[in-house]
Amino acid sequence: MSTISRRGFVKGAALAPLAFTPFSLQAQAAAPADRFDVVVAGAGHNSLITTAYLAKAGYRCLVLEGRPIVGGCVKTAELTLRGFKHDTCSSAHTAIFDNPLIRDDELKLGDYGLEYIYPDPVIHRPFPDGSYITQWRDLDRTVAEFAKFSKKDAATYRRMMAEYEAVAPIFDAVTFAPVGFGKSLNDRLAEHPRGKYWQRRIAMAAWDIIRDSFEDDHCRAFMLASPWSNQPAQFPMTGRTAYGPFQQQRHSRPLPKGGSGELTQALARFIEAHHGVVLTNKPVQRLIVENGKCAGVECTDGSSYRADKAVLSTMHIKQLVDMAPRELWGEDFMDGVNTWQPDAQAFETDYATTEPPKYPVQGGTLLSVHTELMSTPERALRFAYDYSIGVVDVDDPPLHVICCSIADPTRAPAGMHTVKVLGYQPYDIKEGPQHWDAIKEEVSAANLKYLRQFVPNLTDDKILARIVHSPLDMERQNPMNWQGSIHAGSQGPAQSGAMRPVPGWAQHRMPIPGLYQTGATTFPGGSVTGAPGRNAAVVMLKDWGTSIEQVLQKKT
Ligand SMILES: Cc1cc2nc3c(=O)[nH]c(=O)nc-3n(C[C@H](O)[C@H](O)[C@H](O)COP(=O)(O)OP(=O)(O)OC[C@H]3O[C@@H](n4cnc5c(N)ncnc54)[C@H](O)[C@@H]3O)c2cc1C
Repeated sequence: MSTISRRGFVKGAALAPLAFTPFSLQAQAAAPADRFDVVVAGAGHNSLITTAYLAKAGYRCLVLEGRPIVGGCVKTAELTLRGFKHDTCSSAHTAIFDNPLIRDDELKLGDYGLEYIYPDPVIHRPFPDGSYITQWRDLDRTVAEFAKFSKKDAATYRRMMAEYEAVAPIFDAVTFAPVGFGKSLNDRLAEHPRGKYWQRRIAMAAWDIIRDSFEDDHCRAFMLASPWSNQPAQFPMTGRTAYGPFQQQRHSRPLPKGGSGELTQALARFIEAHHGVVLTNKPVQRLIVENGKCAGVECTDGSSYRADKAVLSTMHIKQLVDMAPRELWGEDFMDGVNTWQPDAQAFETDYATTEPPKYPVQGGTLLSVHTELMSTPERALRFAYDYSIGVVDVDDPPLHVICCSIADPTRAPAGMHTVKVLGYQPYDIKEGPQHWDAIKEEVSAANLKYLRQFVPNLTDDKILARIVHSPLDMERQNPMNWQGSIHAGSQGPAQSGAMRPVPGWAQHRMPIPGLYQTGATTFPGGSVTGAPGRNAAVVMLKDWGTSIEQVLQKKT
C-alpha cells in the first residue's frame, strides 16, 4: 500500500487500478503542541504561496489540508494505474509566469524541485473539415498557420499580439497587486498612449472584437476556443479574453516536470524548510473566535490549532461563513456570499494509454501536449445557453485534450501516456446534480467518440484504464470547486475586482479580525496565477509592518 508523508507526498507503489477516493488514508498525527503565528486552512497553490512568503519572513506557520495530498486543483496523482501520473485538474501554468514569484524567481522554487517544460507546439486546433491551426512558440510560424485561411487574419493576429504586448505590463501590475494597492487599471490606462483604445476593448464582448477583427470562421473559432476559462464570449466586459491566445504565445502553456502538483509540492517543501508544518487529512470545520478575534481553527477529528497572529483561509466563502456565528460576518458580507454564482464547470476523463493522440496533419501526424476542439464560432456561443438552461450538450462538444507525457516522459511508464479529455457541462442539470452519477459514463463515451474523429489512433486497444469525473465529482474531490466551478465562482463583473469575493472585502481581510482569505474566491480569481496567494502575503506583511521586498532581502 502506498504511504504518504505529513504533507501527503505519494510514496512507493500505489495499487492498480486506483480511483481518486482510495487516497483517503488515515488522518495524520496531531501537530506538536507548540504555538503557531499563522494557521492556514486549506493547501491550494495560493494559500501555499502566501504561507511560503510568511514562513520566509520568519512567521511559524501550520498548514491544514483536508485531503490526503496538498495542492487542491494543482495536484498530480496515480488516478488510473501505477506509474501513470495524472494532473487531477490543472495542467497549464501559463498565467503564473507573469507573477513575480516565478517571473523573478523570488522564492527560488527550483531549489525545492520545481522545473518547467515549455511545450512546442503550444496548442493544436483541428476542425471537423480536416483543416487545423497550430500555435507554435515562434510567432511567424503561428501567423503562417492563420495565413492558410486568410492573409488579413494572419496580419490581424500579428497586430493584436503587438497590441497586447504593449499593455501586458499594465495588466500584470494590476493583477499582481492587492485591490487598492497602487493605481487602478483605469488610472494606469489613462496614462498610456493607447489607454482609450483599451478602455473600450476591455468593456466590449470578446466575440464582438473577434468577429470584427477576423474574417475567417476557423480563425474566429481558434480565438474563441477557451470559453470555459472565462465568461461566455458574447457577454460584455469579456474583451480582454479576446487576447487570451497571446499570453500563451508569449509563455507557451508551461508544465511542471513530473506533474502540475510539483508546484505545490515544491511550495510545501519550501514551507517545511522554513520551519513550517504541513498536515494532510485535516478538514477544518470551525473557526475559533475569542474576544472578537479569530484565534484558531478546529478540525473534524476534534483537534484544534491556535494562531497567535492570524488564520488564513482558502476555504470556499460559501463554506467559510458556516464556520463562525452568522452575526460575526455582518449583513453586507452575508449578502455578498448569498448572491455568489458558480462559473463554468468541468467534465473530465483521464486515460492511461499506450499511444498519444496523433493528429493527422499535412505530411503525417502531429503530437501536441495541448489540443482544443472548437468546431465553429456558433458552438462557442451556444455554450452560455446550455449552461443557463442546464442542458448536457454532447453535440460537437468543445474539448481540451492534454497529453503531458508527450513533453514529459516522467508522467508515465516508458512508451506509455496520460491523456486528459476535459469537457464542459453544467453541474446543475434539470434532473439535479446527483443525476450525474447515472449519466457520466455515457457523456464520457460521447466525448471519446467525438475525439476519435480527430485522432483515429485512440482506439479501445490503446486504452489501458480510465477514470471519469463529472462536475459533481469535481466538487466532491475539492470543496473549492463549489457546484463544479473550475474557478470557485463566476468571474463576471459582479464577482471581479473590488467585488471579489464581496464588495468591501476584496483586500483579503475578512470581517472577523485576525482572519484573512486567499484563493480563487479572492481577486483576481481562479486559474494557476498564484496572484491571490502573493497578494494576500502583501496585505498580511503590510499589516504586520513589513513587506515582501523586505522579506526577500533576508538571506534564508
Ligand atoms: C478540471 C480543472 C482543470 C483546470 N485546468 C486549469 C489549467 O490547466 N490552468 C489553469 O491556470 N487553471 C486551471 N484550472 C483552475 C485552477 O486549477 C484553479 O482555479 C486553481 O488551482 C485554484 O487554486 P486555489 O489555490 O485557489 O485553490 P484550490 O486549488 O481549490 O485549493 C483549495 C484547497 O483547500 C482545501 N480545503 C478546502 N476546504 C477545506 C477545509 N474546510 N479544510 C481543509 N482544507 C480545505 C482543498 O482540499 C484544496 O486542497 C482548472 C480547474 C479544474 C477544476
